[in-house]
Amino acid sequence: MNVLFIAAECAPFAKTGGLADVVGALPRYLRALGHDVIVVMPLYRSIDAARHNLRWFHGPMGVWMGNAEEWCAVHTTTNRGTPVFFIESQKYFDRWGLYHDEHFNDYADNPRRFGFLTRAALQLCKDIGFKPDVVHAHDWHTALAPAYLKIWHWNDPLLGSAASVLTIHNIAYQGKYPAHHLDYLGLQWANFTPDKFEDHGAINFLKGGIAYADLVTTVSPTYARETRTPEGGYGLAPYLNAKGEDYIGILNGCDYEVWNPETDPLIPARYSADDLGGKTICKRALQARMNLEVADDIPVIGIVSRFVEQKGLHLLAQCIEGIVQNMRVQFAILGSGEPGLEHFFGTLPARYPGRIGSYIGYNEELAHWIEAGADFFLMPSIYEPCGLNQMYSLRYGTLPIVRATGGLEDTVMQYDERTGEGTGFKFYEPSAHAIYYTVGWAVSTYYDRPHHMQRLIRSAMAQDFSWERSARAYEAAYARAIENKRRWDRQHAL
Ligand code: ADP
Repeated sequence: MNVLFIAAECAPFAKTGGLADVVGALPRYLRALGHDVIVVMPLYRSIDAARHNLRWFHGPMGVWMGNAEEWCAVHTTTNRGTPVFFIESQKYFDRWGLYHDEHFNDYADNPRRFGFLTRAALQLCKDIGFKPDVVHAHDWHTALAPAYLKIWHWNDPLLGSAASVLTIHNIAYQGKYPAHHLDYLGLQWANFTPDKFEDHGAINFLKGGIAYADLVTTVSPTYARETRTPEGGYGLAPYLNAKGEDYIGILNGCDYEVWNPETDPLIPARYSADDLGGKTICKRALQARMNLEVADDIPVIGIVSRFVEQKGLHLLAQCIEGIVQNMRVQFAILGSGEPGLEHFFGTLPARYPGRIGSYIGYNEELAHWIEAGADFFLMPSIYEPCGLNQMYSLRYGTLPIVRATGGLEDTVMQYDERTGEGTGFKFYEPSAHAIYYTVGWAVSTYYDRPHHMQRLIRSAMAQDFSWERSARAYEAAYARAIENKRRWDRQHAL
C-alpha cells in the first residue's frame, strides 16, 4: 500500500507529545512490512535544517484553499528510511512555537495553518504523482484530510480512490474555531451541520474528521472504550459510537532501541532480567544525583511527567507528604508544566531532605536514570490515551503504580498477592486516597514479599510492546478502511 501520513508533529523534527513519537516511528515499521509510506509536516522555525539534512525539493507550489490560493515550497529529508516532506510557508510556520506564542497564547489562525498543511499535503501527492491507497491523518490538526478527499477529490484520478484513516491521540484537543473560517477552509456551508462540522455554532475539526474518515482509531483499546462514554468523549462519544466497528484502539509501540536497559548509553550501568546488578548501581547513582539518602533497602518511586491536570499530579500533591511521613520510601520526581505544580514539587525536597528529590524542567538523561534507578514508577493519570512511560518502566524492571485508565489499563497487569503474578499495581478511583493506599500496597510488597517483587520484575521485563505488533494492527486497519471506501464509492457512484 501507498500511505500518506499528514501530521503536525514528527519526532525527531518537532515534538510536544506522544503524537510525534508515533508519526516518527510507525512509518518505519510499516515500510518494513513492505508498504510505501511518506510523511508530510510543517517546516517550523525550530527545525534545524542543517542538522537534519533538509534539502529543497519542490516549489513554488500553489495550494487552493476555499477562497484563496496560497503558495509554499517543499523540503525533504529521510527519517530512518522514510521520506519526510516539510511544507515551508513563512506566513504560517515561520514562528516561535508550534501552536502558540511565547506567552502561551494559541495562534488565532491555527485553523488556517493546519487546514493549509492538510491541503498542501494532498496537492504534493498530485505534483509528485504519489497515489496513496490510504491517507492517514492524526489529531485535529489534519482531521480535515478525510473531508477534503470526499468533498474535493472524490473524482480525482490520483486521490479519488484513497481511503482515509484518522487517529485520535488525545480527544481533549478537538480544534474548535469560529464558523467564519469555513470559507477559507473550503468545507462548504452545506456541511456545517451537527452530524459533520458544526459544534454549538463553531467548526469542530475532529468531529468533521470522524464523520468523513473511513476508519477512526485511537491509541489503546481501553481509551477507545472510554471515549465512547459521555465523560470520556468530551462531547464526541455519540459520533464515535455511530462509527460502530469502524472505531478501534491500537496500542502504540515502544521504541526499544532507545529504551532498553541492556543497551541504554545514558544510564550509569546496564543490566538485564538475568543480571540485575546494574540496576542497583543505577539506583545508588540516582539517589546520589537527586540528594536522596543512598540506601539499597529503601524503595524509590520515580515520576517523569508533564505537570498538567491530565496526569493526576494535583491528587498526588494532596497525599505525597502523608506518604513520606508514614512510609519508609523515597521519591525521585522529574517534570515541568503548570506553575503551581512546579512550585509545589520544586520546593518539597527542602521540606523532606533525603526523602524527596525533584528536578523541574525537561531532561532526557534524567528520565532514563529514573526509569533505571527507581523501584516503582507512579502514573496517577486522570486519563491516559496510551502512555509511554509505563512501557519503559516495565522494560527497566521498575514496577508501574498506575490508575487503570486508557493505555495504562491495557499494558499493566494487576499484581496478584496470592500468586505473585502480574506486572504492577493498579487502582481505579481518581483520588488521593487511592494513590495513598496503592503506594502503600506497593511499598509493603517491597518490604514483606521480596520473592514476589522478584517475580513481578521478571514478568515486567518480559513484556513486549514492540512497534512490529502495532504496525501489523495498522496494516489490518488500512485494509478495512479501503474496503469501507470502496463501499462508499459504490454508494456515491454517479
Ligand atoms: P504525554 O505524551 O501525555 O506527555 P507519554 O507517557 O505518552 O505522555 O509520553 C511522555 C514522554 O515525554 C516520555 O517519553 C517521557 O519520558 C517524556 N517526558 C515527559 N516529561 C519529561 C521531562 N520533564 N523530562 C524528560 N522527559 C520527559
